[in-house]
Amino acid sequence: MIDTQLYASLREEVDAVRVVDSHEHIWMPEEEYLELDADFTRFFLHYTSADLVSAGMDLDDMDRLRAVMGRPKSPSGDQQRAALGRGPVPPCALSLDEKWAALKPFWERARNTAYAKAILRSIRRLYDVEDLDDDTYAAITERMRAEQKAGVYGRILRDECNLGVSVNDADDMGTPEQIRRMDRDLFVAAGRVSLFLDAWNRVNVTEIERRTGRSVLSLNDLLDALDACFEGFAAEGRVAVKIGHAYSRILRFDDADADAAKRIFDRAFVFNGGAAYLEAKPFQDFMLHEVLRRCQAFGLPVIFHTGLQEGNVNLITNSNVTHLMNLFIKYPKVVFDIFHGSYPYTGELSAIAKNFPNVRIDMAWLHIISPAVARRCLSEWLETVPASKIHGFGGDYIMPEAVYGHLDMARENIAWVLAQKVTEGYFTETEAVEVARRLLRDNPMETFRIEERRPVWRDGRG
Ligand SMILES: [Zn+2]
Repeated sequence: MIDTQLYASLREEVDAVRVVDSHEHIWMPEEEYLELDADFTRFFLHYTSADLVSAGMDLDDMDRLRAVMGRPKSPSGDQQRAALGRGPVPPCALSLDEKWAALKPFWERARNTAYAKAILRSIRRLYDVEDLDDDTYAAITERMRAEQKAGVYGRILRDECNLGVSVNDADDMGTPEQIRRMDRDLFVAAGRVSLFLDAWNRVNVTEIERRTGRSVLSLNDLLDALDACFEGFAAEGRVAVKIGHAYSRILRFDDADADAAKRIFDRAFVFNGGAAYLEAKPFQDFMLHEVLRRCQAFGLPVIFHTGLQEGNVNLITNSNVTHLMNLFIKYPKVVFDIFHGSYPYTGELSAIAKNFPNVRIDMAWLHIISPAVARRCLSEWLETVPASKIHGFGGDYIMPEAVYGHLDMARENIAWVLAQKVTEGYFTETEAVEVARRLLRDNPMETFRIEERRPVWRDGRG
């Protein structure tokens, strides 16, 4: 049983924290976002869409809705279409009524999930509409369009959410030019090195050449370009490096073998494109170790996606945090921020974060995967892991409108767990408030060295 008065008083303290959000994917500068045709289907751009497909909605029908919302160039999206044997996204322009007719049967089957609950919280707060149904999809759309005006990012993220700053992970979605135009008060940025890990493929080598203005004809050239990339990250004030390869391969990065990497890389220049994906693992292993050496040299934390993958038809066993343990041992000076609580491998992460001084637990995305899991895990982590090592919130959304509902759930979960701990006599109320501030602000500030790097990012150098 939770003491409701205690919960209310802790909730007030939690609400007052100006949150540092460890993770978003808001890849489109506001001026471009304002040009999109806003309607209720924006809330189905990701997450809830995967639950609707899981409930039986045809992927082509789902992607028709997503395509007309200015869907980003997400590699995982194309990969998942391929896994389901589908080609390019079918072109379509449906009317608002047709969109609702396509969504409704599957919304009704899947609206029980926490993804759906989170977007309803946003809809209630931002548009003052209680539910999404036959009577409201048009009204929600109308209110979204009315709010679609200059300053909308700040109104949602700063005014409604009380976010201090968000760590934005958008390199693989937007273009470098779009990233440069993002609002530098609302966001700082993580950097991606995906092109380097995937430089066993000629297309990616060419893209690296285009972006760096360098010629890349050998593995040594590639490593020089990687050096230049990290120098760019430092000059720009990037706060972390993000590795998202748990969508495409097992997270076991075996010890580097430069000869094997070189053989695979050289094949990219012969026989039309080089190695097949599964043959490229030794190359990626080598490059990932090279990335980590540079994270150490530049003092940049590395964020690993672990656990549940977004979308459908993914291999969960690829993304178990235990695959990464050789890296935690080999690179003790690199801080590893382990995303999504590694759900469902949350117990493994608990033991690992307790053991390794260089491992952090990040609850990005976790509160909407399951509030029950988030509460159970946070309760366990607060008994097993130093409170200075847990990041309490990352919204993990492409669309800012959805962040509110997720953050509301996160605040509720954190206040609820802390109230329980105080009731049980595990924490005093003062300790609980201190822990809340650490989870939601102090810890991500420290891990990402935001005080030091934010002015550089704001300056817009690089
Ligand atoms: Zn993410």
